[in-house]
Amino acid sequence: MAFARQGRSVDAVIAELEGKRQADVKWSEGRTFGMVYNGGPSVHEVAERAARLYLHENALNTKAFPSLGQIQSEVVGWTADLLHGPDSVAGFLTSGGTESILCAVLAARERAAAERGITEGEIVLPESAHAAFHKGAHLFGLKVRKTAVQADWTADVDAMAREVGPNTVLLVGSAPQYPQGVVDPIPAIAELAASVDANCHVDACMGGFVLPFVEMLGRDLPPWDFRVEGVHSISADLHKLGYAPKGVSVILHRHKALRKYQTFVFDGWLGGFYASPSLQGTRSGLPMAAAWAVMQHLGVEGYLELTRQTLENADRMREGIAAIEGVRVLGDGGYHLIAMAADPAVEPAIDIFALGDALLRRGWFHDRQGPPDTLHSTVSNSNTGVIEEYLADLAVCVEEVRGQRTDDRSTNYATLE
Ligand SMILES: *Cc1c(COP(=O)(O)O)cnc(C)c1O
Repeated sequence: MAFARQGRSVDAVIAELEGKRQADVKWSEGRTFGMVYNGGPSVHEVAERAARLYLHENALNTKAFPSLGQIQSEVVGWTADLLHGPDSVAGFLTSGGTESILCAVLAARERAAAERGITEGEIVLPESAHAAFHKGAHLFGLKVRKTAVQADWTADVDAMAREVGPNTVLLVGSAPQYPQGVVDPIPAIAELAASVDANCHVDACMGGFVLPFVEMLGRDLPPWDFRVEGVHSISADLHKLGYAPKGVSVILHRHKALRKYQTFVFDGWLGGFYASPSLQGTRSGLPMAAAWAVMQHLGVEGYLELTRQTLENADRMREGIAAIEGVRVLGDGGYHLIAMAADPAVEPAIDIFALGDALLRRGWFHDRQGPPDTLHSTVSNSNTGVIEEYLADLAVCVEEVRGQRTDDRSTNYATLE
Protein backbone atom coordinates (compact mmCIF):
# COMPACT_ATOMS: atom_id res chain seq x y z
CA MET A 1 0.00 0.00 0.00
CA ALA A 2 1.76 3.11 -1.20
CA PHE A 3 1.44 6.19 0.97
CA ALA A 4 0.39 9.11 -1.25
CA ARG A 5 3.11 11.63 -2.09
CA GLN A 6 0.65 14.48 -2.39
CA GLY A 7 -1.61 15.52 0.46
CA ARG A 8 -5.30 16.28 -0.10
CA SER A 9 -7.62 19.08 0.90
CA VAL A 10 -9.46 19.01 4.20
CA ASP A 11 -12.81 18.65 2.42
CA ALA A 12 -11.62 15.76 0.27
CA VAL A 13 -10.21 13.91 3.25
CA ILE A 14 -13.35 14.32 5.33
CA ALA A 15 -15.61 13.38 2.42
CA GLU A 16 -13.71 10.14 1.97
CA LEU A 17 -14.00 9.33 5.68
CA GLU A 18 -17.74 9.97 5.50
CA GLY A 19 -17.91 7.55 2.59
CA LYS A 20 -16.02 4.87 4.50
CA ARG A 21 -18.63 4.89 7.26
CA GLN A 22 -21.48 3.75 5.01
CA ALA A 23 -21.15 0.07 6.00
CA ASP A 24 -20.84 0.80 9.73
CA VAL A 25 -23.72 0.13 12.11
CA LYS A 26 -26.21 2.97 12.27
CA TRP A 27 -25.98 3.42 16.02
CA SER A 28 -27.62 6.83 15.97
CA GLU A 29 -30.81 5.13 14.78
CA GLY A 30 -30.88 3.06 17.98
CA ARG A 31 -30.53 -0.31 16.23
CA THR A 32 -27.27 -1.26 17.91
CA PHE A 33 -27.40 -2.93 21.33
CA GLY A 34 -24.05 -1.94 22.80
CA MET A 35 -20.76 -0.36 21.74
CA VAL A 36 -22.14 3.16 21.37
CA TYR A 37 -24.13 4.89 24.09
CA ASN A 38 -26.31 7.80 23.16
CA GLY A 39 -27.21 10.14 25.99
CA GLY A 40 -29.13 12.49 23.69
CA PRO A 41 -28.36 15.70 21.77
CA SER A 42 -27.23 17.91 24.65
CA VAL A 43 -24.95 15.18 26.04
CA HIS A 44 -23.36 14.88 22.61
CA GLU A 45 -23.02 18.63 22.34
CA VAL A 46 -21.27 19.06 25.68
CA ALA A 47 -18.94 16.13 24.93
CA GLU A 48 -18.08 17.45 21.47
CA ARG A 49 -17.36 20.96 22.71
CA ALA A 50 -15.17 19.64 25.56
CA ALA A 51 -13.46 17.28 23.07
CA ARG A 52 -12.60 20.17 20.78
CA LEU A 53 -11.07 22.09 23.70
CA TYR A 54 -8.96 19.08 24.76
CA LEU A 55 -8.28 17.41 21.40
CA HIS A 56 -4.55 18.14 21.61
CA GLU A 57 -3.91 18.22 25.35
CA ASN A 58 -1.73 15.65 27.08
CA ALA A 59 -2.22 14.32 30.62
CA LEU A 60 1.26 12.76 30.59
CA ASN A 61 2.43 15.70 32.66
CA THR A 62 -0.09 17.49 34.85
CA LYS A 63 2.47 20.17 35.68
CA ALA A 64 2.07 21.30 32.07
CA PHE A 65 -1.69 20.69 32.16
CA PRO A 66 -2.87 21.19 35.76
CA SER A 67 -6.45 21.31 34.50
CA LEU A 68 -6.22 17.62 33.55
CA GLY A 69 -4.99 16.78 37.05
CA GLN A 70 -8.06 18.53 38.46
CA ILE A 71 -10.36 16.91 35.92
CA GLN A 72 -9.04 13.47 36.84
CA SER A 73 -9.35 14.13 40.55
CA GLU A 74 -12.92 15.43 40.24
CA VAL A 75 -14.18 12.62 38.00
CA VAL A 76 -12.55 10.05 40.30
CA GLY A 77 -14.05 11.78 43.35
CA TRP A 78 -17.59 11.91 41.92
CA THR A 79 -17.37 8.26 40.91
CA ALA A 80 -16.17 7.30 44.39
CA ASP A 81 -19.14 9.21 45.81
CA LEU A 82 -21.57 7.24 43.62
CA LEU A 83 -19.89 3.96 44.62
CA HIS A 84 -19.89 4.82 48.35
CA GLY A 85 -16.11 4.92 48.64
CA PRO A 86 -14.74 5.83 52.07
CA ASP A 87 -12.86 9.14 52.44
CA SER A 88 -9.62 7.26 51.85
CA VAL A 89 -10.57 6.08 48.35
CA ALA A 90 -8.07 6.83 45.58
CA GLY A 91 -8.17 6.21 41.86
CA PHE A 92 -7.17 7.18 38.34
CA LEU A 93 -8.77 7.64 34.97
CA THR A 94 -7.76 5.05 32.39
CA SER A 95 -8.46 4.53 28.69
CA GLY A 96 -11.20 1.96 29.27
CA GLY A 97 -12.45 -1.06 31.14
CA THR A 98 -9.62 -3.28 29.99
CA GLU A 99 -6.95 -0.89 31.23
CA SER A 100 -8.76 -0.45 34.57
CA ILE A 101 -8.90 -4.24 34.95
CA LEU A 102 -5.25 -4.66 33.99
CA CYS A 103 -4.35 -2.10 36.67
CA ALA A 104 -6.41 -4.01 39.26
CA VAL A 105 -4.75 -7.31 38.34
CA LEU A 106 -1.30 -5.74 38.54
CA ALA A 107 -2.09 -4.09 41.89
CA ALA A 108 -3.22 -7.44 43.31
CA ARG A 109 -0.06 -9.17 42.11
CA GLU A 110 2.19 -6.43 43.50
CA ARG A 111 0.46 -6.32 46.88
CA ALA A 112 0.70 -10.08 47.25
CA ALA A 113 4.38 -9.98 46.30
CA ALA A 114 5.17 -7.15 48.72
CA GLU A 115 3.05 -8.22 51.68
CA ARG A 116 2.89 -12.02 51.34
CA GLY A 117 6.02 -12.81 49.33
CA ILE A 118 4.02 -14.53 46.58
CA THR A 119 5.93 -15.11 43.35
CA GLU A 120 3.56 -17.47 41.50
CA GLY A 121 0.26 -15.72 41.93
CA GLU A 122 -3.15 -17.04 40.95
CA ILE A 123 -6.47 -15.40 40.15
CA VAL A 124 -9.74 -17.11 41.04
CA LEU A 125 -12.70 -16.05 38.95
CA PRO A 126 -16.03 -17.28 37.60
CA GLU A 127 -16.19 -18.10 33.87
CA SER A 128 -18.48 -15.08 33.49
CA ALA A 129 -15.69 -12.64 34.43
CA HIS A 130 -14.57 -10.50 31.50
CA ALA A 131 -11.86 -11.76 29.12
CA ALA A 132 -9.71 -8.78 30.17
CA PHE A 133 -8.85 -10.62 33.43
CA HIS A 134 -7.38 -13.46 31.35
CA LYS A 135 -5.47 -10.88 29.32
CA GLY A 136 -4.14 -9.43 32.58
CA ALA A 137 -3.08 -12.84 33.86
CA HIS A 138 -1.35 -13.49 30.52
CA LEU A 139 0.48 -10.17 30.56
CA PHE A 140 1.47 -10.24 34.22
CA GLY A 141 2.42 -13.91 34.50
CA LEU A 142 -0.42 -15.10 36.74
CA LYS A 143 -2.33 -18.36 36.63
CA VAL A 144 -6.11 -18.27 36.25
CA ARG A 145 -8.29 -20.70 38.16
CA LYS A 146 -11.66 -20.50 36.43
CA THR A 147 -14.84 -21.80 38.04
CA ALA A 148 -18.28 -22.68 36.68
CA VAL A 149 -21.22 -20.40 37.40
CA GLN A 150 -24.47 -21.41 39.09
CA ALA A 151 -27.73 -22.17 37.27
CA ASP A 152 -28.71 -18.49 37.61
CA TRP A 153 -25.36 -17.51 35.99
CA THR A 154 -23.98 -15.88 39.15
CA ALA A 155 -20.56 -16.87 40.50
CA ASP A 156 -20.49 -20.11 42.49
CA VAL A 157 -18.61 -19.09 45.62
CA ASP A 158 -18.26 -22.69 46.88
CA ALA A 159 -16.58 -23.60 43.59
CA MET A 160 -14.34 -20.53 43.96
CA ALA A 161 -13.47 -21.56 47.53
CA ARG A 162 -12.21 -24.90 46.23
CA GLU A 163 -9.72 -23.04 43.97
CA VAL A 164 -8.47 -20.58 46.58
CA GLY A 165 -5.09 -21.36 48.09
CA PRO A 166 -1.91 -19.81 49.50
CA ASN A 167 -0.95 -18.38 46.07
CA THR A 168 -4.26 -16.63 45.44
CA VAL A 169 -3.67 -12.93 44.84
CA LEU A 170 -7.05 -11.89 43.44
CA LEU A 171 -10.72 -12.88 43.45
CA VAL A 172 -13.12 -11.32 40.96
CA GLY A 173 -16.85 -10.65 40.99
CA SER A 174 -18.85 -8.56 38.53
CA ALA A 175 -21.66 -6.05 38.98
CA PRO A 176 -23.09 -7.07 36.65
CA GLN A 177 -21.21 -9.62 34.56
CA TYR A 178 -21.45 -8.97 30.83
CA PRO A 179 -22.82 -12.22 29.32
CA GLN A 180 -26.14 -12.50 31.22
CA GLY A 181 -26.18 -9.25 33.18
CA VAL A 182 -26.47 -10.73 36.68
CA VAL A 183 -24.71 -9.35 39.77
CA ASP A 184 -22.34 -11.79 41.50
CA PRO A 185 -22.54 -12.42 45.30
CA ILE A 186 -19.93 -9.79 46.11
CA PRO A 187 -20.05 -10.02 49.95
CA ALA A 188 -19.29 -13.77 49.85
CA ILE A 189 -16.49 -13.28 47.29
CA ALA A 190 -14.97 -10.48 49.40
CA GLU A 191 -15.12 -12.65 52.51
CA LEU A 192 -13.42 -15.49 50.67
CA ALA A 193 -10.68 -13.12 49.47
CA ALA A 194 -10.17 -11.88 53.02
CA SER A 195 -9.70 -15.45 54.25
CA VAL A 196 -6.37 -15.61 52.38
CA ASP A 197 -5.62 -11.86 52.41
CA ALA A 198 -6.02 -11.64 48.62
CA ASN A 199 -7.51 -8.66 46.78
CA CYS A 200 -11.19 -8.61 45.85
CA HIS A 201 -11.94 -6.69 42.65
CA VAL A 202 -15.47 -5.81 41.59
CA ASP A 203 -15.81 -5.37 37.84
CA ALA A 204 -18.47 -2.70 37.49
CA CYS A 205 -17.31 -1.67 34.02
CA MET A 206 -20.88 -2.21 32.84
CA GLY A 207 -22.74 -1.34 36.04
CA GLY A 208 -20.71 1.46 37.59
CA PHE A 209 -22.82 4.23 36.08
CA VAL A 210 -26.10 2.29 36.17
CA LEU A 211 -26.43 0.45 39.49
CA PRO A 212 -26.10 3.54 41.73
CA PHE A 213 -29.09 5.02 39.90
CA VAL A 214 -30.97 1.69 39.84
CA GLU A 215 -30.72 1.78 43.63
CA MET A 216 -31.90 5.40 43.82
CA LEU A 217 -34.87 4.44 41.63
CA GLY A 218 -35.80 1.85 44.26
CA ARG A 219 -35.16 -1.37 42.31
CA ASP A 220 -33.82 -4.41 44.21
CA LEU A 221 -30.05 -4.66 44.12
CA PRO A 222 -27.69 -6.94 46.04
CA PRO A 223 -24.75 -5.22 47.80
CA TRP A 224 -21.81 -4.76 45.43
CA ASP A 225 -19.92 -1.48 45.99
CA PHE A 226 -17.47 -0.13 48.62
CA ARG A 227 -20.13 -0.60 51.30
CA VAL A 228 -19.12 -4.26 51.13
CA GLU A 229 -16.20 -4.63 53.54
CA GLY A 230 -13.32 -6.35 51.86
CA VAL A 231 -13.78 -4.93 48.37
CA HIS A 232 -10.35 -3.59 47.45
CA SER A 233 -10.92 -2.12 44.01
CA ILE A 234 -13.71 -1.36 41.52
CA SER A 235 -13.60 -0.61 37.79
CA ALA A 236 -16.37 1.56 36.27
CA ASP A 237 -16.55 2.63 32.62
CA LEU A 238 -17.58 6.16 31.78
CA HIS A 239 -17.52 5.35 28.07
CA LYS A 240 -20.40 2.88 28.45
CA LEU A 241 -23.52 3.94 30.34
CA GLY A 242 -21.64 6.94 31.74
CA TYR A 243 -22.43 8.30 28.23
CA ALA A 244 -18.95 9.77 27.70
CA PRO A 245 -17.23 9.20 24.34
CA LYS A 246 -14.79 6.31 24.18
CA GLY A 247 -11.45 6.17 25.91
CA VAL A 248 -12.33 6.67 29.58
CA SER A 249 -12.88 4.49 32.63
CA VAL A 250 -12.28 4.81 36.38
CA ILE A 251 -10.21 2.50 38.57
CA LEU A 252 -10.80 3.00 42.30
CA HIS A 253 -8.92 1.50 45.25
CA ARG A 254 -10.19 1.55 48.82
CA HIS A 255 -7.15 3.58 49.88
CA LYS A 256 -4.00 5.13 48.49
CA ALA A 257 -1.68 2.39 49.77
CA LEU A 258 -3.58 -0.09 47.58
CA ARG A 259 -3.47 2.27 44.59
CA LYS A 260 0.28 2.55 44.91
CA TYR A 261 0.61 -1.07 43.77
CA GLN A 262 -0.62 -0.21 40.28
CA THR A 263 1.76 2.69 39.68
CA PHE A 264 5.25 2.65 38.17
CA VAL A 265 8.02 5.03 39.16
CA PHE A 266 11.48 5.04 37.57
CA ASP A 267 14.39 7.33 38.28
CA GLY A 268 17.24 6.05 36.13
CA TRP A 269 16.58 7.35 32.65
CA LEU A 270 18.42 10.06 30.71
CA GLY A 271 14.99 11.59 30.08
CA GLY A 272 14.39 12.22 33.78
CA PHE A 273 12.06 11.06 36.51
CA TYR A 274 9.18 8.96 35.19
CA ALA A 275 6.00 8.43 37.22
CA SER A 276 3.16 6.56 35.56
CA PRO A 277 -0.28 6.01 37.07
CA SER A 278 -1.49 3.36 34.63
CA LEU A 279 -0.45 1.58 31.44
CA GLN A 280 -0.23 4.51 29.05
CA GLY A 281 2.51 7.06 28.60
CA THR A 282 1.10 9.95 26.63
CA ARG A 283 -2.54 10.28 27.69
CA SER A 284 -5.08 12.12 25.61
CA GLY A 285 -6.89 14.84 27.54
CA LEU A 286 -9.88 14.54 25.21
CA PRO A 287 -11.74 11.60 26.80
CA MET A 288 -10.99 12.86 30.31
CA ALA A 289 -12.38 16.33 29.62
CA ALA A 290 -15.35 14.96 27.68
CA ALA A 291 -16.22 12.64 30.57
CA TRP A 292 -15.92 15.52 33.03
CA ALA A 293 -18.22 17.62 30.85
CA VAL A 294 -20.81 14.85 30.44
CA MET A 295 -20.90 14.18 34.20
CA GLN A 296 -21.22 17.89 34.96
CA HIS A 297 -23.97 18.29 32.38
CA LEU A 298 -26.02 15.31 33.53
CA GLY A 299 -25.68 15.40 37.29
CA VAL A 300 -27.43 12.73 39.34
CA GLU A 301 -30.80 13.85 37.97
CA GLY A 302 -29.68 13.39 34.37
CA TYR A 303 -28.31 9.92 35.03
CA LEU A 304 -31.50 8.98 36.91
CA GLU A 305 -33.58 9.88 33.87
CA LEU A 306 -31.28 7.99 31.48
CA THR A 307 -31.35 4.96 33.79
CA ARG A 308 -35.14 5.11 34.13
CA GLN A 309 -35.40 5.13 30.34
CA THR A 310 -32.86 2.31 30.00
CA LEU A 311 -34.74 0.10 32.45
CA GLU A 312 -38.03 0.85 30.71
CA ASN A 313 -36.46 -0.20 27.38
CA ALA A 314 -34.93 -3.37 28.86
CA ASP A 315 -38.11 -4.36 30.75
CA ARG A 316 -40.18 -3.97 27.59
CA MET A 317 -37.67 -6.08 25.64
CA ARG A 318 -37.78 -8.85 28.24
CA GLU A 319 -41.57 -8.79 28.22
CA GLY A 320 -41.68 -8.82 24.40
CA ILE A 321 -39.16 -11.67 24.09
CA ALA A 322 -41.12 -13.73 26.63
CA ALA A 323 -44.23 -13.35 24.49
CA ILE A 324 -42.57 -14.76 21.34
CA GLU A 325 -42.67 -18.54 21.01
CA GLY A 326 -39.22 -20.03 20.49
CA VAL A 327 -36.97 -17.49 22.27
CA ARG A 328 -36.34 -16.65 25.91
CA VAL A 329 -34.10 -14.57 28.15
CA LEU A 330 -31.36 -16.39 30.06
CA GLY A 331 -30.60 -15.64 33.70
CA ASP A 332 -32.36 -12.37 34.01
CA GLY A 333 -30.54 -9.85 36.17
CA GLY A 334 -33.38 -7.38 35.71
CA TYR A 335 -31.07 -4.53 34.72
CA HIS A 336 -29.79 -3.45 31.31
CA LEU A 337 -28.19 -6.58 29.82
CA ILE A 338 -30.18 -9.27 28.02
CA ALA A 339 -29.01 -12.66 26.73
CA MET A 340 -31.56 -14.09 24.29
CA ALA A 341 -31.47 -17.84 23.63
CA ALA A 342 -33.60 -20.41 21.87
CA ASP A 343 -36.34 -21.91 24.04
CA PRO A 344 -35.48 -25.64 24.22
CA ALA A 345 -39.10 -26.49 24.97
CA VAL A 346 -40.13 -25.36 21.48
CA GLU A 347 -39.54 -27.78 18.55
CA PRO A 348 -37.87 -27.29 16.17
CA ALA A 349 -35.50 -25.12 18.21
CA ILE A 350 -34.73 -21.68 16.79
CA ASP A 351 -31.11 -21.28 15.65
CA ILE A 352 -30.27 -18.13 17.54
CA PHE A 353 -27.40 -17.21 15.19
CA ALA A 354 -29.64 -17.58 12.11
CA LEU A 355 -32.01 -15.29 13.99
CA GLY A 356 -29.12 -12.87 14.54
CA ASP A 357 -28.41 -12.86 10.79
CA ALA A 358 -32.07 -12.18 10.01
CA LEU A 359 -32.15 -9.31 12.50
CA LEU A 360 -28.94 -7.90 11.05
CA ARG A 361 -30.52 -7.86 7.56
CA ARG A 362 -33.10 -5.53 9.10
CA GLY A 363 -30.37 -3.38 10.61
CA TRP A 364 -30.42 -4.70 14.21
CA PHE A 365 -26.93 -5.38 15.53
CA HIS A 366 -26.36 -7.78 18.45
CA ASP A 367 -23.20 -9.27 19.87
CA ARG A 368 -23.21 -13.04 19.16
CA GLN A 369 -21.98 -14.81 22.27
CA GLY A 370 -21.61 -18.18 23.93
CA PRO A 371 -21.50 -20.78 25.20
CA PRO A 372 -24.43 -21.16 25.18
CA ASP A 373 -25.38 -19.60 21.82
CA THR A 374 -27.09 -16.32 22.60
CA LEU A 375 -27.66 -12.86 21.18
CA HIS A 376 -26.52 -10.23 23.63
CA SER A 377 -28.10 -6.83 24.10
CA THR A 378 -26.60 -4.04 26.12
CA VAL A 379 -29.68 -1.88 26.39
CA SER A 380 -29.28 1.83 27.01
CA ASN A 381 -30.90 5.15 26.29
CA SER A 382 -29.61 4.68 22.72
CA ASN A 383 -32.50 2.30 22.08
CA THR A 384 -35.23 4.63 23.28
CA GLY A 385 -38.07 4.87 20.78
CA VAL A 386 -37.28 1.75 18.73
CA ILE A 387 -38.19 -1.10 21.08
CA GLU A 388 -41.68 -1.74 19.65
CA GLU A 389 -40.26 -1.82 16.11
CA TYR A 390 -37.53 -4.19 17.31
CA LEU A 391 -40.01 -6.57 18.91
CA ALA A 392 -42.18 -6.58 15.79
CA ASP A 393 -39.14 -7.37 13.62
CA LEU A 394 -38.02 -10.00 16.12
CA ALA A 395 -41.36 -11.81 15.88
CA VAL A 396 -41.15 -11.75 12.06
CA CYS A 397 -37.53 -12.95 12.07
CA VAL A 398 -38.29 -15.84 14.46
CA GLU A 399 -40.95 -17.09 11.99
CA GLU A 400 -38.55 -16.56 9.09
CA VAL A 401 -35.78 -18.74 10.58
CA ARG A 402 -37.93 -21.45 12.18
CA GLY A 403 -36.44 -24.74 10.94
CA GLN A 404 -33.37 -23.00 9.44
CA ARG A 405 -29.77 -23.23 10.55
CA THR A 406 -26.66 -21.19 9.69
CA ASP A 407 -23.23 -22.79 9.37
CA ASP A 408 -21.62 -19.72 10.87
CA ARG A 409 -21.25 -20.61 14.56
CA SER A 410 -18.69 -17.88 15.25
CA THR A 411 -19.02 -15.57 18.20
CA ASN A 412 -17.32 -12.20 18.02
CA TYR A 413 -17.25 -9.98 21.05
CA ALA A 414 -14.03 -8.45 19.77
CA THR A 415 -12.02 -8.77 16.54
CA LEU A 416 -8.40 -8.36 15.46
CA GLU A 417 -8.25 -6.52 12.14
C1 LIG B 1 -16.91 -3.61 28.66
C2 LIG B 1 -16.53 -4.45 29.80
C3 LIG B 1 -15.19 -4.61 30.13
C4 LIG B 1 -14.05 -4.13 29.25
O1 LIG B 1 -14.08 -2.79 29.00
P1 LIG B 1 -13.49 -2.10 27.69
O2 LIG B 1 -13.84 -0.68 27.90
O3 LIG B 1 -14.19 -2.72 26.51
O4 LIG B 1 -12.04 -2.35 27.65
C5 LIG B 1 -14.92 -5.34 31.28
N1 LIG B 1 -15.88 -5.86 32.03
C6 LIG B 1 -17.20 -5.73 31.72
C7 LIG B 1 -18.23 -6.32 32.62
C8 LIG B 1 -17.55 -5.02 30.60
O5 LIG B 1 -18.84 -4.89 30.28
